[in-house]
Amino acid sequence: MDSKPLKVAILVVSTSAHKDPSTDKSELVLRDVIDSEGGGRWEVTETKIVSDHVPHIQRQIMLWADIGFEAVDLILTTGGTGFAVSDHTPEAVGALLHKTAPGLVHAMLSSSLAVTPFAMMSRPVAGVRHNTVIVTLPGSPKGAKENLQAILKTLPHACLQAKGVDSRTLHAGGVQKLEEDAGIGSSKQASGHHSHGHGGCHGHGDNHKNHGHGHSHGHGRLVRHTKPGENPLSNDPSLGPTRRHRESPYPMLSVDEALSLILDHTPEPQVITSQVDPSIIHSSVPAFRASIVDGYAVVVPQDGNMKGVYPVTAVSHAAPGDIGALKEGEIVRITTGAPLPPGATSVIMVEDTVLKSKTDDGQEEKEVEILAERVKPGDNIREVGSDVKEGETILQKGEQISGVGGEIGLLASVGVTEVKTYKRPVIGILSTGDEIVEPNRPGPLRLGEVRDTNRSTLTAAAREQGFAVADLGIARDRPGALEETLRDGFRRADVLITTGGVSMGELDLLKPTVERALGGTIHFGRVNMKPGKPTTFATVPAKTDAGDRVRKPLFALPGNPASALVTFHLFVLPALHKLAGVTPVGLPRVPVTLSHDFTLDKGRPEYHRAVVAVGRDGKLAASSTGWQRSSRVGSLRSANALLCMPKGSEPLGKGVEVEALLMSSVRSEL
Ligand code: AMP
Ligand code: MG
Repeated sequence: MDSKPLKVAILVVSTSAHKDPSTDKSELVLRDVIDSEGGGRWEVTETKIVSDHVPHIQRQIMLWADIGFEAVDLILTTGGTGFAVSDHTPEAVGALLHKTAPGLVHAMLSSSLAVTPFAMMSRPVAGVRHNTVIVTLPGSPKGAKENLQAILKTLPHACLQAKGVDSRTLHAGGVQKLEEDAGIGSSKQASGHHSHGHGGCHGHGDNHKNHGHGHSHGHGRLVRHTKPGENPLSNDPSLGPTRRHRESPYPMLSVDEALSLILDHTPEPQVITSQVDPSIIHSSVPAFRASIVDGYAVVVPQDGNMKGVYPVTAVSHAAPGDIGALKEGEIVRITTGAPLPPGATSVIMVEDTVLKSKTDDGQEEKEVEILAERVKPGDNIREVGSDVKEGETILQKGEQISGVGGEIGLLASVGVTEVKTYKRPVIGILSTGDEIVEPNRPGPLRLGEVRDTNRSTLTAAAREQGFAVADLGIARDRPGALEETLRDGFRRADVLITTGGVSMGELDLLKPTVERALGGTIHFGRVNMKPGKPTTFATVPAKTDAGDRVRKPLFALPGNPASALVTFHLFVLPALHKLAGVTPVGLPRVPVTLSHDFTLDKGRPEYHRAVVAVGRDGKLAASSTGWQRSSRVGSLRSANALLCMPKGSEPLGKGVEVEALLMSSVRSEL
């Protein structure tokens, strides 16, 4: 097989995307499918956006396909395949095809039909022009993704044949070999070691015998090679309440499983540039020999006995300037931090001296008696570099520059004003729900209205941890509104936190919007814990300001305020730490003793909001903040810890030791 990557061109056909390329979402989704499922056989070499005009579409395709040896191997168009007045892509492409490929069309349609009858509304064409295979995909990111997934594994073979690679070589080894090379594997060998995506179509029997059989899964065998979770599990909001899931289709993960998925899928921290390496200091501290006390600089005689009366010949203040050398038998008055005169060996504290005589004007000291014995050279002197030596490492990679100020001070003391640090991620925070109103909305609440609690609490919690927040407002429970707000959020922030819209109600749009409109992957959608069961974590393809393609994390937290705040601390914080290069990630864990009996939840482990304080015996003791209902944000009032309580039907007694996650500092007494 030819090992050079096959060249792919993506043509986005959309008048609106042509006007504003930022509205296009399909290109990213297609690139993502090609990268993650193309087996490394493809390289996207060209992309272009054209408006829905037949000549524009055709011109671009000919530019890519009609240049002989240089032509791309595959052109994927996306958009313009429906029944709208402006949809012309199949006609534009169809007229250019030298050979048609109804098999590819069939595979795409049947895989989509297994998901929704509305797949009938797509009119794809596929075929070959000169040596280039051309396929028209729908414009919706979800449809485009599914159709491409349905055929991608077989396309290298089509492209190689269209390119003119000898058919006999290609077919040596038969269909079985072809399937193996394509990473498909026939049902006979593949069952058992292929993972099957939930909701994907599981083919049965031999593919050569399947055509024409009426059962809807027959041709779906081509899509089953997607990884689990690649096909959306979420409700299709357009199907209405009678056809939506009645129970969450997402597997219930343990908190630990959820945390490890979060850390796996959170990007590594980004280093932001600066010119200076902070680990090497520029100069010693102090940079000169300085006095530690107010007193008199002296030259100590051999025997260390300084007792006697000495003339004060000069004064050294803590200020820059020159000072003459000191001789034995003279002394210089010196202040704390001031440079020693050259030749001085020690400083005598002012407390060990007596004023003996003044100058004639009475303003200055003339002679001072020193009472000190056993003075050693170096007494009360900070030698050059005794705080920090030149060349010494002052901060290691990974050390935090904290708000306590010590590290900043250390850097400033040696003259380092620029350092390399990990970029602090910006967090976009969004509330969702038709019932949610701004907390400062004047007037009383109407029936059903709820003041937005989550945006304020999460913003405060994120800021407390040192992160910058982008306020994304409140999104209404409409698919379009939510999608737009999320897109905007991903442009402005590195991580998104949403609240609400993740339970099983019909307006719970978060998961479908992430999976179906944004082409995201939901890594988990349910966690075995209380509060916070519907906590959802996804990554969504996005572009950085620099145009790099990345996957940005999205935490869709439950709407109930206590759940939102608990799951922020438990799940979001470790990801923020990882993104910011902070180690170890997450809240610190400490053992604490229960101050009273705690009732346990029968069904799920609970993160009980509590106050942890140092008792009189010096041990940490925890008491509950009271009623733990997930809507009651008051359960977090004055809480500084989450107690990790097991599930159980009997209360956990006073004096029992449990683990606590500390959200803020420990109180000094109960
Ligand atoms: P949901 O997950 O959207 O069904 O929301 C669950 C519960 O949380 C509902 O009672 C919502 O009204 C409430 N809720 C959702 N978002 C917020 C918010 N930002 N502030 C206060 N309550 C909220
Ligand atoms: Mg809601």
